[in-house]
Amino acid sequence: MHAAIRIEDVHKRYGALQALKGVSFDIRPGEFFGLLGPNGAGKSTLISIIAGLSQASSGQISVMGHDTVRNWRMARRSLGVVPQELVFDPFFNVVDMLRLQAGYFGCGSESWPWIDEMLERLDLADKRRSPMRGLSGGMKRRLMIARALVHEPKLLILDEPTAGVDIELRRSMWTFLEEMNRQGTTIILTTHYMEEAEALCRNIAIID
Ligand code: ADP
Repeated sequence: MHAAIRIEDVHKRYGALQALKGVSFDIRPGEFFGLLGPNGAGKSTLISIIAGLSQASSGQISVMGHDTVRNWRMARRSLGVVPQELVFDPFFNVVDMLRLQAGYFGCGSESWPWIDEMLERLDLADKRRSPMRGLSGGMKRRLMIARALVHEPKLLILDEPTAGVDIELRRSMWTFLEEMNRQGTTIILTTHYMEEAEALCRNIAIID
């Protein structure tokens, strides 16, 4: 069986700055995996390369057996990414934004029941017709997770999902992620909270 993610000797340079220097590791399917390390260690850079938003200077990454450069379309379809920043078009309402996002992956109305289910499970069902600018920060965070999952990827990557989030919301996000993982989604997250890594992750890697 192939790894969910295989990272082989990845280097990334930004001009004179070497952000990643020979990173290699595998993540097995079904894992709940934590990527830890101090600020500036290169975690977001590695995630951007996995997601195909940035290119490695050298080395290879495959997602579910698909090379992220040669077979980027299949690799990209296999994963959902929740970035650190909250980025939305303020003029769409919640459900239209999610349906539009599903459309980018070629998913039509067959994806709508799943979208409604996620809104229920993330406690956003009563906001389905709200414009994005009418949501609280915590609601936007949960919506970012729903958006990453519209096309039902096998793998979910979250960059500091609970940074600046209150305890109650953090716990409800953890519960949702644990459920997704039990149902078979491989999850990778970066975090600064040791408590979070300890509560959720079966394995971790530390980048320095
Ligand atoms: P982390 O997510 O672990 O905090 P980053 O991946 O954001 O670390 O950053 C790793 C290093 O690469 C930092 O020194 C950062 O300043 C640098 N860096 C990140 N993105 C860029 C970029 N687009 N251009 C130049 N330098 C960058």
